[in-house]
Order: sequence, then C-alpha cells, then structure tokens
Amino acid sequence: MKKPKYQTETPVDLVRHQRMCGICRHEDRAEIDQDFLHWKNPTLICRERGIADRSTIYRHAHATGLFERRRRNVRVVLEKLLERVSEVVEINGSVIVQAATALARINGAGQLIERRETVNLNELFDRMTQDELEAYAKDGVLPAWFTGAVGATQTRDGEDVND
Ligand SMILES: [Zn+2]
Repeated sequence: MKKPKYQTETPVDLVRHQRMCGICRHEDRAEIDQDFLHWKNPTLICRERGIADRSTIYRHAHATGLFERRRRNVRVVLEKLLERVSEVVEINGSVIVQAATALARINGAGQLIERRETVNLNELFDRMTQDELEAYAKDGVLPAWFTGAVGATQTRDGEDVND
C-alpha cells in the first residue's frame, strides 16, 4: 500500500517548523489542534480557519505529534458514529454491529485488542436483543452475559486491558 506523502517525509526540526508553520502561528491554533484530534475533516478546518491548503494541517500534525495522538483517539469516531445511528436513522442492526464490533476491539489507547481465546464477536452481537443493542449504542453498556463470554482481554503488547 502506498503511504501518504506526509508520512514519508523525514522528521522535521520542530523549531524550524514553528517558524514556517501557518498553524503554529495561527491565532486559533489550540482550536485547530482540538478539531484535528477529534477527527474533524481537514478540508472543513481549512475553510473555517482561513487556511489555504490541507497539506499545511498535515505538515503541522506530523511535526507536532498530532497524528499519533489522533490515532489513540480513534474511539471518539466510533462513538460518534454509534450516537448518530440512534439519531439519524431507524436503528439498523448491522450498522450497529459493525461499529460496535470495531469499538469493542479497540482499547482506550487505540490499540487493537487480541483475545486470549477466539471469540466470534459477530455471533455475540447477533445474540443481543434490540434493547441491548440500543443500550450499547447510547451508553456503551454491554450486557453481563456478553462480557462474561468475551472474558479477559489482552493487548498486543501483552498488557491487560483495564478499561
Ligand atoms: Zn505547526
């Protein structure tokens, strides 16, 4: 897979970056950083903050470590998706199952979780009732029988997941 251009650039000197960067010197820098961290569309950020080019945001994010922080924030997107499912459309089981399955497999640090034993999450979500699915979509609460079936989880680094 071809890597996006911003990831293949050599690491930049932060001081030099800050001198050149339209976002580091931007009066709304804190807001721009927050928008980026919350996965707001960069094109939209540019439009709202008067930034000429998305690549300015990507360069800034690369130099200041925002990409790494945003990656750890991936749960936010999935959580927002689940919130919108309950607002915008009639509850659609398969959409919820897909988003909830992804969310269930990503821990607070944005790491994919591997199970000690193989558990078919789709099967478990299929067994959830409509009420249980809605509770999960709204509050992230899984039924007790579900967490019992999944059991202990483990990250790829071998650390126990506590959240
Ligand atoms: Zn910058």
